[in-house]
Amino acid sequence: MNCAPAIDNRLSIEKSDPGRRGLWCKNPLRAKASIPAALRRKSALRLPELSEFDVVRHYTRLSRLNFSVDTHFYPLGSCTMKYNPRFNEEAAALEGFAALHPLAHDSSAQGTLELIHDLSARLVELCGLDAITLQPAAGAHSEFTGLLLAKAYFEAKGENRTEIVCPDSAHGTNPATASMMGFNTVNLASKPDGRLDVEELKKHIGPKTAVLMLTIPNTLGIFESNIEAIAKAVHDAGALFYMDGANLNALIGMVKPGDFGVDLMHLNFHKTFSTPHGGGGPGAGAIVCSKQLAPFLPVPLVKKSGSGYVSDFGDGRSIGKVKAFFGNTGVLVRAYAYMLAHTPEEFADIARCAIINANYVRSRLLDIYPSYSKEYCMHECVLTPGADMTGKGLRTLDVAKGLLDRGFHAPTIYFPTIVHEAIMIEPTETESKATLDEFVAAMRDVHDSGMADPQALKDAPHTMPVKRLDEVQAARQPNLHW
Ligand SMILES: *Cc1c(COP(=O)(O)O)cnc(C)c1O
Repeated sequence: MNCAPAIDNRLSIEKSDPGRRGLWCKNPLRAKASIPAALRRKSALRLPELSEFDVVRHYTRLSRLNFSVDTHFYPLGSCTMKYNPRFNEEAAALEGFAALHPLAHDSSAQGTLELIHDLSARLVELCGLDAITLQPAAGAHSEFTGLLLAKAYFEAKGENRTEIVCPDSAHGTNPATASMMGFNTVNLASKPDGRLDVEELKKHIGPKTAVLMLTIPNTLGIFESNIEAIAKAVHDAGALFYMDGANLNALIGMVKPGDFGVDLMHLNFHKTFSTPHGGGGPGAGAIVCSKQLAPFLPVPLVKKSGSGYVSDFGDGRSIGKVKAFFGNTGVLVRAYAYMLAHTPEEFADIARCAIINANYVRSRLLDIYPSYSKEYCMHECVLTPGADMTGKGLRTLDVAKGLLDRGFHAPTIYFPTIVHEAIMIEPTETESKATLDEFVAAMRDVHDSGMADPQALKDAPHTMPVKRLDEVQAARQPNLHW
């Protein structure tokens, strides 16, 4: 007998049973009578008639269909879906932080101002740079802020620089931000090993270049080993070196980006600093920069004054605000709690574990899922289906769907775009070897079952309420109605 629970796919309206209703409104007829006739609906409203208990079950069931970091291994490359310690939540819920009014005077917000001040100092130190803003709400928003800083910097110097150089191994938001800001994007092809070609870079960089935007490690999970030569080429051309540091968990505590020539960089708190990620909630980013860019940072910043802290509105050269008040401060409290919970040596362990976990998965899968790069990776690896699978018409999408049936969120797929049929796996540092072994076994099982019965894998997922979607149409014309 098959004891697997049947998936109840019905919408709440389909479960409707006339006469059922929630406990809170025992007499809807009397409620209706109290509404003036002119305001009453003419047509019958189609609402599900369900008891409170029906509704609780309906939504609890739906919520359990979700894949989440708290329920499943979630190796979504580039997104750093790691564990968010509950300690962070406790800190953010402390009444002094959670109940602070955004318009409170500095004198009654001393705790939050001190936190912003100390968090800023710690992050600046960690990055080996000089100044920081915590206002941006996300990584892409930080990039936007960083390019505004670059623009203001060159304007102040009287230089008209119109180009941003991005390699093809950059995160997609880098060229998108550059064009949104009205810059021309110069695209650089990577070398076959996935790294930037320094000679090529020199040919494309010059008096028109404002910024080189480099994702480090790049989207192939590889560190640019020529980083010092790259920084020198950028500075020789009078341009700025921007590091997309969204994935700093690969480097944190091991190296300071300022030491290898970075002028400005962004951080993602909802990645590296373990604050909740996705689901549309607030995130936070930061731009950390060198002295020369500091005068242009968004205001207010926080400075020490006597024994307390005050808002600092700068000297008038600021680019202005990019977010209300001090940004998403609840996220900053979580990031601060996370930082305080680790010593500097432990930060390096975070990076080491992120790197070891990715290389463990990579090396245990290489015989059936070849890697784009022949080298060890950093925090993530990019694999592809092998020739035996593609020979049977099996693609990356089939692997991703097959993983859902085995209880794993799919890795990032078809990104980076420079890798044909990419499967980008980022285990993160918080997963145990036991979980990685289960994932490896699932990936191998997807391969073996696909080779034995290719059509069954092409029809996966078999256990999800929704099977294969027309993803282009779903994105362009989402059907949000029943
Ligand atoms: C996630 C990510 C971004 C964008 O960050 P958001 O917070 O999603 O806007 C940019 N660059 C890299 C390398 C990333 O991984």
